[in-house]
Amino acid sequence: MAATAGMSWADRAAAQAFDGRALIDGERRAALAGETFDKHSPIDGRLLGPVARGREADVSAAVRAARHAFADGRWAGQAPAARKKVLQRFAEKVLAARDELALLDTLDMGKPIQYALSVDVAATARTLAWYGEAIDKVYDEIAPTAASSLAMITREPMGVVGVIVPWNYPLIMAAWKLGPALATGNSVVLKPSEKSPFSALRLAELALEAGLPPGVLNVVPGFGHEAGEALALHMDVDAIGFTGSTRTGRRMLEYAGRSNLKRVYNELGGKSAFVVFDDVEDIDRAARTLAGSMFFNQGESCNAPSRALVHERVADRLVEIVAAEAPSYAPGDPLDPSTVMGALVDETQLRTVMGYIEAGNSEGARCVAGGRRTRTETGGFYVEPTVFDQVDNGMKIAREEIFGPVLAIVRFKTEAEAIALANNSSYGLQASVWSGHLSRAHRVARALRAGTVHVNQYDEDDITVPFGGYKQSGNGRDKSLHALDKYTELKTTWLRIDPA
Ligand code: NAD
Repeated sequence: MAATAGMSWADRAAAQAFDGRALIDGERRAALAGETFDKHSPIDGRLLGPVARGREADVSAAVRAARHAFADGRWAGQAPAARKKVLQRFAEKVLAARDELALLDTLDMGKPIQYALSVDVAATARTLAWYGEAIDKVYDEIAPTAASSLAMITREPMGVVGVIVPWNYPLIMAAWKLGPALATGNSVVLKPSEKSPFSALRLAELALEAGLPPGVLNVVPGFGHEAGEALALHMDVDAIGFTGSTRTGRRMLEYAGRSNLKRVYNELGGKSAFVVFDDVEDIDRAARTLAGSMFFNQGESCNAPSRALVHERVADRLVEIVAAEAPSYAPGDPLDPSTVMGALVDETQLRTVMGYIEAGNSEGARCVAGGRRTRTETGGFYVEPTVFDQVDNGMKIAREEIFGPVLAIVRFKTEAEAIALANNSSYGLQASVWSGHLSRAHRVARALRAGTVHVNQYDEDDITVPFGGYKQSGNGRDKSLHALDKYTELKTTWLRIDPA
């Protein structure tokens, strides 16, 4: 990108170049069949550029390059300390390119530029650096066997890892897989979402600049049912790290069953419960946290607290505060640094969200804030922050993941009812308990079937802790040292020790 100092984000966006070609074996390449699809921005409908429409032949070329790179040991054969240096440089390159990467995600999927910078790019760099720093500090094991032998338990890279990610946090979702997969020595073929392909392609260029050998990280853009399916069905892919909807996660397991039983790790959807008891110490803070976490990223977060369960004695007060807070998250121009809510990713998502708002109204919930499409004059896809009160847990808006700025508030009377309602969901990604009593907070946190439970807060986050779900929210965990398990095989090697 040309020098940008002093330019507005709108001017930078106008000057930004978009290269939608695949990156295979260290080179940018058009799709083998020469096909492309046009990628438009949800901000205002502008055309960003053509993107290579990868299909089976492109995926096969990428898997071949990845397998070759793995087999000759150009990356897997390097000492962990050497891989660490490359990943650290990779993270530095990401930070040096922060403005461009943030702009690509904002234009591609509509999030506010301020969060693309402060959250997405920052977390991506930290993730890559963290796994780099960790990898030369992880030891293998010796089993406590009899003296006549030595049993070593070592971790080995899986080989070729397919990574398929969604569009809501394009950089972070990719980094959560790339960090542990690359640190442990694997080669990767990454398929970004067709709705947000550009930052992943740029990321792979930065990896090359940082010294990652060609062929170790390949990126094939394209559609899910074409490039994604080809990758998940490929007989020479050893594992799939998938993040996306539960519907597609189910397919991933089928693809593995129909092909080579590759390992499948699914990070899927959620309908996270935000449980507020009548002994909550600070109802204002609970309500403001709920609104902030719900409307962040336009509500397009897998762990959005989209189902608030509130004790009937404090419900009116909470609803009043949340409804009053909601308009402060009104969508604005994502390229304006003061905007806190941007555009939904595309027209399909807009229609889905508006369909859920209609369902909430027709099923008898009470819309107390928002509920309409807005900023139509821009040509983009914006929805007001929306709050429904008087929701029954059986209603569609309480059961299904909406993936938009729509909050459902359900009232309860007793602790047992709150736990039952919270767990009455096919999902189990995250939950939150608000109570001034330590024992109740612990008791309820233990009873909730979710991968992460927050107490008296919602958004605390760090790369050091695992992230993932119970039930149909997935299996395996991203982040933390636990993620290394997904990208390594455990090998036991027995050595006989003869007596003197
Ligand atoms: P999606 O399932 O539609 O797509 C995700 C990825 O899978 C995309 O790259 C897509 O091209 C690909 N894909 C789609 N159909 C495919 C197929 N038949 N075969 C192979 N690949 C296919 O999901 P989305 O709309 O991009 O993302 C939103 C979903 O992601 C939400 O459900 C959200 O909760 C979930 N998500 C989960 C986490 C988590 O960590 N648990 C994080 C972010 C998003």
